[in-house]
Amino acid sequence: MRFSPHRRHRQRRSPSSIYPREGFGLIPETLRQEITRLGGTIYTSTTVLALVPLESGGFEVTLRQRNEHRQTMTADQVISTIPLNYLLEAIPTELGSRDVLAQYDLEYRDLICLFLAIDKPQVSQDSWTYFPDRDLMFGRTHEPKNWSPAMIPDDRYTSLAVEIFASRGEPTWQMSDEAIADTVVSQMHEIGWVSKPDVLKHWVLRVPYAYPVYTIGYQEKLQQVKDYLGQWPNLHLLGRTGSFHYMNSDGVIEDVFRLMAELFPADPRAVRSLASATGRWL
Ligand SMILES: Cc1cc2nc3c(=O)[nH]c(=O)nc-3n(C[C@H](O)[C@H](O)[C@H](O)COP(=O)(O)OP(=O)(O)OC[C@H]3O[C@@H](n4cnc5c(N)ncnc54)[C@H](O)[C@@H]3O)c2cc1C
Repeated sequence: MRFSPHRRHRQRRSPSSIYPREGFGLIPETLRQEITRLGGTIYTSTTVLALVPLESGGFEVTLRQRNEHRQTMTADQVISTIPLNYLLEAIPTELGSRDVLAQYDLEYRDLICLFLAIDKPQVSQDSWTYFPDRDLMFGRTHEPKNWSPAMIPDDRYTSLAVEIFASRGEPTWQMSDEAIADTVVSQMHEIGWVSKPDVLKHWVLRVPYAYPVYTIGYQEKLQQVKDYLGQWPNLHLLGRTGSFHYMNSDGVIEDVFRLMAELFPADPRAVRSLASATGRWL
């Protein structure tokens, strides 16, 4: 698939980078349009209940959709980007998945995102700002307007995306959205980052499985899972979550290109991955 941002969607940041005018969401939205145009179907708010390997090498996949509707389909190839524990749970017990799950000891870190609408034109000129202070609830902010002016409805305003590093079960995660916003805004006010009366609105988004955690020995544990899943050559692990590889979206997209080139070598539309492994942390 060829993806080329339309000129009207481009927002130039520097000579070496281009940011979509309406933000990162334009990339998945354009992919969605292209997939639909080519006759594909995308199911959202859908989870995988069962993944049954078939003798043909393919799979029978059972999905549960938002409205509780269940659907079973067959697939020649399965590319999984969901957390590894969910994938293992979907494989029938009699195929040994429970034994692997019993040994499974990989950890993902969750994240809370707080979005603030602010009644002033700019908070900072930075792309990202880090707050390495244990007493603060938040660890990083970015100001989408600094990436593209189209990210706010009116130039008199700005917004902040605030990241709160917390996982399910931790005290911060247990707090209500209201309490989280109150605490963060009060702390920002105290340190002089944002003035409390300037905050017009807030929204909270909880993101489970945001980061794979590289604890000591994780490689061996990950290898055990990969060795088990490797018995099905038509099952592919992809993405930061699915392959348990801490990388940015460019690294994920490169891996997609690489897999497509591998699966469809003769396809003239197949895209080639870049030579260097960019967007990876390790
Ligand atoms: C706060 C934050 C800021 C970031 N900033 C940047 C940045 O500036 N630049 C950059 O390049 N990258 C950035 N990244 C990283 C980037 O978002 C990831 O690398 C990328 O989204 C990984 O893509 P993925 O497809 O592997 O996983 P995801 O995008 O996380 O997709 C996984 C999907 O699987 C779904 N899912 C989970 N469980 C199930 C299940 N059981 N059944 C069905 N579906 C399921 C999830 O809902 C999710 O939609 C950022 C990440 C975070 C969290």
